[in-house]
Amino acid sequence: MHIHEYQAKTLFSQNNIKIPKSILISNTKEVSNACLELGGSTWVVKAQVHAGGRGKGGGVILCRCVKEVENTCEKLLGSQLITPQTDVNGLPINQLLIEVGQNIKQELYLGLLVDRQTQKITVLASTEGGMDIEKVASETPNKIIKFGIDPLNILNKQDCNSIAKQLNLANALAKQFNQTLLGLYNIFITKDVSLIEINPLVITAKNTLLALDSKIDFDDNALYRHEDIMQLRDISQEDKKENEARQYQLNYISLNGTIGCMVNGAGLAMATMDLIEHHGGSPANFLDVGGGTTADRVAKAFELIQTEINIKGLLVNIFGGIVRCDLIAEGILQAIEKVGLILPIVVRLEGTNAAQGLALLSKSKYNIYTEKNLTQAAIKIVELSV
Ligand code: GDP
Ligand code: MN
Repeated sequence: MHIHEYQAKTLFSQNNIKIPKSILISNTKEVSNACLELGGSTWVVKAQVHAGGRGKGGGVILCRCVKEVENTCEKLLGSQLITPQTDVNGLPINQLLIEVGQNIKQELYLGLLVDRQTQKITVLASTEGGMDIEKVASETPNKIIKFGIDPLNILNKQDCNSIAKQLNLANALAKQFNQTLLGLYNIFITKDVSLIEINPLVITAKNTLLALDSKIDFDDNALYRHEDIMQLRDISQEDKKENEARQYQLNYISLNGTIGCMVNGAGLAMATMDLIEHHGGSPANFLDVGGGTTADRVAKAFELIQTEINIKGLLVNIFGGIVRCDLIAEGILQAIEKVGLILPIVVRLEGTNAAQGLALLSKSKYNIYTEKNLTQAAIKIVELSV
């Protein structure tokens, strides 16, 4: 789960990480008071959306007078922000963070993530922070410092010092850096975070270290034990379809291809997508309908898949282990009855009562292609989805 910059910054300041003074607004009428309360002579208006690259997308605007802040807020509030990290529709801007402008001497990068290769929580740091950190990472990876934390130990002051040294930070700054990194690490550990990032972490003209931006991704599997974090969810920033799917206990992810997939089991879903690709097609979605699928869920899955923008065909691939294939076939027929069939469809059933299930489908009044073999099913749907 993602949260907004302003929410992450609240967590930052609760953990001794210094942030600029800021006020969150959702109405232009609040602007002049906010600027007055904040003080200063420049302000940065920042769109609160669940995506990075806001600077490049026009969602971070430096303003030099209150009128300019007002005009900027007027323009941004209620619009969609498109950044290099969103899709073509962008994300709705419902809130803006107005921040006191900072005099920036240097932009650093600091983050923590779980490195699966080394199986360690890993600190990433760089003197080359800012909007082009991705470019730095891919073109000059030696400029990214990596520090793995021993899982049987905790991050300690010596570790912080050694990272600060690699960043060439003078003593006064190193102290602030240690405080920042320990704060990040504390959030990471106590809140079951999978990625936490400050980019940029700036050194101001007055030699203070400030977290100008903040990004936190939480591990969904651990959310159940963080009621406070769950409260921060903003579904206006999430994919409507994926949310709807979640309510039906379907694991659904929209993709860009043309072939809809309805599969039980995440592994089988991945294999199905691979086979579609292998035979020249491209999947429109990932969907795991789960083990004990019901007709209701199958119907919802149909509905979700058929409304994918580029959809041209549908492949159903069910392995009847616990669930019986004849019941699945009935579920599919009920779903078609309910939501209609506007696409070519290939159904592959294997496992318990597969033959009965396939017979039910081929006997039906609908034009359903049935297959017992997955490769053949993939080839068929690619052929039909042109
Ligand atoms: P992102 O593009 O979504 O990562 O948004 P950021 O919050 O990182 O803002 C993008 C860039 O705007 C930063 O890298 C800074 O260079 C710049 N920026 C943000 N806040 C300030 C500020 O207070 N003063 C100045 N001069 N620049 C800022
Ligand atoms: Mn940033």
